[in-house]
Order: sequence, then C-alpha cells, then structure tokens
Amino acid sequence: VNMLTWPVATVGWVTSIVQMAEASQKRINEFLQEEPEISNPETPAVDIEGHIEFRNVSFTYDDTNITALKNVSFSVDPGETLAVIGKTGAGKSTILELVARLYDPTQGDILIDGHPIQEVNLDTLRESIGTVPQDAFLFSDTIGNNIRFGKADASEQEVVEAAKMAAVHNNIAEFTKGYNTVLGERGITLSGGQKQRVSIARALIKNPKIYLFDDCLSAVDTETEEEILGNLKRVANSVTTIIVSHRISSAKNADKILVLDNGEIKQQGTHAQLISEDGYYKELYLSQLSEKENF
Ligand code: ADP
Repeated sequence: VNMLTWPVATVGWVTSIVQMAEASQKRINEFLQEEPEISNPETPAVDIEGHIEFRNVSFTYDDTNITALKNVSFSVDPGETLAVIGKTGAGKSTILELVARLYDPTQGDILIDGHPIQEVNLDTLRESIGTVPQDAFLFSDTIGNNIRFGKADASEQEVVEAAKMAAVHNNIAEFTKGYNTVLGERGITLSGGQKQRVSIARALIKNPKIYLFDDCLSAVDTETEEEILGNLKRVANSVTTIIVSHRISSAKNADKILVLDNGEIKQQGTHAQLISEDGYYKELYLSQLSEKENF
C-alpha cells in the first residue's frame, strides 16, 4: 500500500466503524428511552395480577395527529387470551403501546387490576409485561445470552425451558455450539421464524404476568404457532395474553377476539361466533382457508 494513501484509507475505515457504533448507540438509546412524557407515579410497587380494561379509549398521536383508536372498550382477565385482528394501520399495535404505557390515552381510561394505569407504579407495570415486538431485536452475542436478556440471572436450565416453550430448542440443539452459538456479524444468521422464536423465549424467561405479542409469529408456520400458544396456555395459565395478528390461526383459540378497523372495534366475540356472522373476520377466515392455511 502506498504510504501516502494508507493513513487516509485508515481514517476512512475508522470513521465508518465510529459511525456504525454511533448508529447502533442511537438505536439502543431510542429503544431504552421510549416516550419521555409519561410520569411515574409515586405509588408503591404492588404485584400486578393482570386484569386489563379499556373504557372508551381514544388515542391520537401528537406528531401525526392520527387518531389510532376511537372509543375502544374491552377487558381481559388473568388466564385469558385476547386476540386483536385487523389490517395494517387498524390500531392494533397502539393498543399494546397503551397497555405498556408508552403513551397515555387522549380520552377514556385504562385500568390495570381495577386501578387507573396512571396510578400504577411504572416500573412494576413494565416488569410485569413481556413484550415480543414485530421485528425481533437480537444482539451479536450467543443465543443463550440473547434469551437471557429477558432475565439476566437465568440458569442454563431456565434458558433451555424457555427455548423449549418457544419451540426453538430443537433448532438450537442442532448447532454444533448449541446455546453458545454466536449470532450476528461474526456468527450465524437465523431464519426469520427462528429469530421470532428466540425473541419469544426471551419474553417467556421473564415469567411476566402479561404477554403482549405484536404479530410476532408471522414467520412461524401455523403448526408451530399452535404448539407455542398451547405451551403458553399450559404453563402460564394465570397469565394475560394479548396477541396482535392478521392471521386467523393466532386468534382461533383465543378467549376473545376484537376486530379492529380504522381504530374502531367492528366485531368482537369468539372464533365460532365470528365465523358465523358476516364481516371482516369471516372474509379473512375464508381467504386464509383457501390459501390452505392450517386451521
Ligand atoms: P396496526 O398495528 O394495526 O398496523 P398501528 O397501531 O401501528 O396499527 O397504527 C395505527 C395508526 O397510527 C396508523 O395510521 C399509523 O400510521 C399511526 N401510527 C402508529 N404509530 C405511530 C407513531 N409512533 N406516531 C404517529 N403515528 C403513528
């Protein structure tokens, strides 16, 4: 290498690494900060049971002025699964964001165990919730540590249990280094469905009272999806689950289903009720049935 161009090339290389580090730091900061406007009440930390009630909740995002939810009311109890179905932009994720109190409703009330959500200790609330986002966020670290991110002091045994419940243990066991397999830039790349299941294992190991699943099974086949939801029902039988999806397979075994359209609840009921009435749910059911989805 020419002695004159060498330092320049080096500087260029260093800059890009610094920029990369800055970019990922920014992403981590955004991820950790979430919304600053929420005030943490000075209420004592009490155990959360997991009753969730929305009473005539409307919500408008400040920055876009989009009213994402209009007069939404429902309740879900510990041990129950609520599925929220609807097209993209219907307001499904917004419901989850309000439960995790990333925002407060513009109108109406959200009650947690009968208490206004604004009065619930924010740390307790967030600790009681296991969220699985749409896009799994995995670190360039071992699979084991990625799962352990949900509970830093988890034992080897707990990591394996969580992976089994999330139906990803068998995949991990096939790797030569098992749970010590490194992911990311210097390691291997998981398939979309495997990433989603590692991300689910991370939420499961936290052993929360409330699960918020944001379309996090979209890349998992319906049979495996059923296995995971079945495991959850069996092991976490006093847990409240809200599952957002646009697949009927995620909703059909739920205790309650909300069909959301343009921020409003258009239908609600069980799978059996909703396929026996005309509406979006039945249309979706018939179209996914004809796609030979596995029901
Ligand atoms: P879904 O989960 O059903 O796809 P969302 O709850 O994500 O729907 O979005 C509902 C509406 O709110 C959409 O019109 C969307 O563009 C808008 N929205 C979602 N998130 C934000 C945000 N952070 N800021 C502003 N508008 C948003």
